[in-house]
Amino acid sequence: MAKYILSIDQGTTSSRAIIFNEQGLPLQQAQQEFEQIFPEDGWVEHDPETIWQTTLEVCQQAIRQARLNAFDITCIGITNQRETTVVWDKNTGKPIYNAIVWQDRRTAETCETLRQQGREPIIAGKTGLLIDPYFSATKIHWILENIEGAKEKAQQGELLFGTIDSFLLWRLSGGKSHKTDATNASRTMLFNIHEQQWDNDLLDLFSIPKSMLPEVCDCSADFGSTLPELLGAEIPITGIAGDQQAALIGQACFKPGMAKSTYGTGCFMILNTGKTAVQSENRLLTTIGYRLNGDVTYAIEGSIFIAGAAIQWLRDGLQLIDHASQSEALAESADQKSGVYLVPAFTGLGAPYWDPNARGAITGLTRDTGIKEIVAAGLRSVCYQTRDLLEAMAADGASLPSTLRVDGGMVQNNWLVQFLANLLNTDVERPQITETTALGAAYLAGLHSGIFCSLEQIQKLWACEQKFSPEMKEATREKLYQGWLDAVRRVTSH
Ligand code: ADP
Repeated sequence: MAKYILSIDQGTTSSRAIIFNEQGLPLQQAQQEFEQIFPEDGWVEHDPETIWQTTLEVCQQAIRQARLNAFDITCIGITNQRETTVVWDKNTGKPIYNAIVWQDRRTAETCETLRQQGREPIIAGKTGLLIDPYFSATKIHWILENIEGAKEKAQQGELLFGTIDSFLLWRLSGGKSHKTDATNASRTMLFNIHEQQWDNDLLDLFSIPKSMLPEVCDCSADFGSTLPELLGAEIPITGIAGDQQAALIGQACFKPGMAKSTYGTGCFMILNTGKTAVQSENRLLTTIGYRLNGDVTYAIEGSIFIAGAAIQWLRDGLQLIDHASQSEALAESADQKSGVYLVPAFTGLGAPYWDPNARGAITGLTRDTGIKEIVAAGLRSVCYQTRDLLEAMAADGASLPSTLRVDGGMVQNNWLVQFLANLLNTDVERPQITETTALGAAYLAGLHSGIFCSLEQIQKLWACEQKFSPEMKEATREKLYQGWLDAVRRVTSH
């Protein structure tokens, strides 16, 4: 009998469910977008009930549309927007506040105070993270401090915390399972990534009772099973990972030195560093890539604020193009020797510059600069920033990727991916299945359920759609990159 895996991908703007077969091929998907709630400047929330409802509905839809029934589904994998925080009442199952989304900046002041108290080295040492509102700890603290009665209820053991994976698991299992996986735990700023346990000092620092926290499991584990009435059968949930880590797995980056980069609105790069937790001197994040059979594989993570968003700006801000996809033909026909650079520092610059006050610029304009050259510079800026991240990772002592596997909306653009390979002097591989996040969760679930027997088998299932090899002279590459560094120097304040 054929076996199927239901993969739940609960993202920031939509909930999706994809059904995969035993070969890891996607058969059917359902998706629902949901409302983003902005109560105040810098605050971003989701309604947890909406997250639950949309997730449940897309699961039901995907099974129905694939003409399967719940008994055909061997197991479920969950991947999710990371760091987003839900606190709910153990007895009623009701969240006591909206989910505070990873993008939410309301705890910026708390974070600043912690930094001024000199706590960053200790927190970074334990968690691999920098003090930032991004991560769950200060969000939980905010809920306990600001919702009436919450602190007392938490102390009495009546409240539970979860990132979105935990919250969904708890609901799917009818309140039986309060668990998470090591990758999601590693983004809370409460989890000691070296000892693999919740850190008592950090719990004290943020005044969070340990009883609120989920049990931390491997990414492939027996997380619980669904209430039969939800999907039509009791289905085991056997895989969980945060979205970027799930993509690392979906891209089968299982060896140290393999990296994946996702090019959407922004870009997230994760490099597998194996058994070594590389501590960054360049403000990159040390994180758990995955944990299987109790063995941790560490990773180093860097992000670019503006990737596809630069192309959106060329389209909507400058109105140089009507569709993002037009950028490819324009860049192809641009003067490849033009010295135009676009530094998309619209909201400051991230790693390795960390200059929140930097603002964007277009440099190197001449009389013969046209739309094509500016569009090409926009695409190139994404590649230069990727090289910046890799240079920072190398400076931290990580070995540079032997191959970079890419995904996300931007990588349909062949010109962009070729330039990336040229600039990095690395092979860049684009997979056949670009739904790498959902695929990673399916792999994890299938590993525990016996559909897949090993990472080696999964590695063999991963198929390259197109490989881009470097085709640029070293001197040209370095001249181009030096030009970028020069353009960046012009927009930074130090
Ligand atoms: P997200 O998941 O962040 O919403 P997607 O992975 O869907 O993003 O990618 C969308 C982004 O990719 C948009 O910013 C868009 O400008 C960019 N994009 C889409 N197609 C192309 C293309 N052919 N060339 C360059 N950029 C593109």
